[in-house]
Amino acid sequence: MSAEDFREEAADWLREHCPASLIGLREAVSGGGSRQPIKDPDRRRYFDAMVERGWTVPHWPVEYGGAGLEPETHQALRQAMAEVGAPQPLAGMGTTMIGPTLLEHGTAEQKERHLSKIATGEMRWCQGYSEPGAGSDLASLKTRAEDAGDHFVINGSKIWTSGANFADWIFCLVRTDFDAPKHEGISFVLFSMDQPGVTVRPIRLISGASPFCECFFDNAIASKEDLVGRLNRGWTIAKRLLQHERSSISGATPQTRSVPEVASRYLGVAAGRISDPSLRTEVTRHEMDARAFALTQKRAREENRDGSTQTFATSIFKLYRSELTKRRTELIVSMMGTRGVGWEGSPFGPEELEETRFWLGRKAGTIAGGSSEVQLNIIAKRVLGLPD
Ligand SMILES: Cc1cc2nc3c(=O)[nH]c(=O)nc-3n(C[C@H](O)[C@H](O)[C@H](O)COP(=O)(O)OP(=O)(O)OC[C@H]3O[C@@H](n4cnc5c(N)ncnc54)[C@H](O)[C@@H]3O)c2cc1C
Repeated sequence: MSAEDFREEAADWLREHCPASLIGLREAVSGGGSRQPIKDPDRRRYFDAMVERGWTVPHWPVEYGGAGLEPETHQALRQAMAEVGAPQPLAGMGTTMIGPTLLEHGTAEQKERHLSKIATGEMRWCQGYSEPGAGSDLASLKTRAEDAGDHFVINGSKIWTSGANFADWIFCLVRTDFDAPKHEGISFVLFSMDQPGVTVRPIRLISGASPFCECFFDNAIASKEDLVGRLNRGWTIAKRLLQHERSSISGATPQTRSVPEVASRYLGVAAGRISDPSLRTEVTRHEMDARAFALTQKRAREENRDGSTQTFATSIFKLYRSELTKRRTELIVSMMGTRGVGWEGSPFGPEELEETRFWLGRKAGTIAGGSSEVQLNIIAKRVLGLPD
């Protein structure tokens, strides 16, 4: 079947299976996992139908819960979803980070045990990388894993662990050789968050939200069957996962209203022109940059046989996407004037309040997944080949 036929068929199927209440939903229907089950019946129905078709992870092999779509048909499915307004069924670190990493580096047994549970939304994951003394300089991490026969005993702590309070499992970087150079003594392990040795403390932000947590490991257990890659060679796996993370960040659609839509609502627009000349220039520049970025991403996808952009060059996309989105939210809020600085209640509408929080939240987007400065370092060294 041609990609075009596939797109038409997928769009028909989505029109039939996506409930009207979910059309145009900007967020994913579910983040997966046992701790936040889907309660809304419309969401449940759509989610189950998408799982059944393998469309929570369309490009994964069928045996692991995917639909085995090739890049062309996967792209056609994305187009069909956009056309219909059908939301992403499943979000999270399972589908975007640990899943793709296990597909490449996991043993047959690890893939068998973990991947389908990600695809069906049964298992939600979090990322145990950063520590109080190891952020940009991640290889300085100190969380220890000691060999105890058929398992490791883990002690230490992680910080900024997004969604740890809802996660069932964690993929975690631990130190297994204490004498080797710092990059050569790290291992990559998976373990359950539901065990006595794990304590999760949400970090409460000024907004009242707790998007990330501190995690404390006090003799937590990781089975040796859940060591990914070789002992003390976890750094290679860690870097690969970061490429998947950065690729997913750069591919995400900004969850804000469009800039022209906000301009026409809040600014004086006469005959299609924003009256304030400096804002007009800023809006035009932003729209041109956003289009150029989308086209560059499309070209990069087409140039890569597997349809991905996960190489060191991914840092270019992560850097540009997060800076562009930050700029976009700043522009939106400045166009909204005093309507853009509401915190709660009237006279602000729900969309306005959401926009203000999104603007504040996006400031963290240039830090999460590795800061902009760190991306510039990677681009300088690994893409441009400049000396240290
Ligand atoms: C929203 C959000 C979600 C996150 N989720 C997770 C998660 O789920 N799991 C997880 O493990 N971590 C997570 N993090 C942590 C994130 O990976 C770190 O915050 C990030 O890597 C930066 O580390 P740091 O905060 O320790 O800052 P630092 O490394 O202390 O950096 C401080 C400043 O110095 C700059 N800097 C540092 N080194 C250099 C250098 N060599 N050259 C130039 N400038 C440099 C940085 O760019 C930054 O501006 C999250 C962070 C955010 C904001």
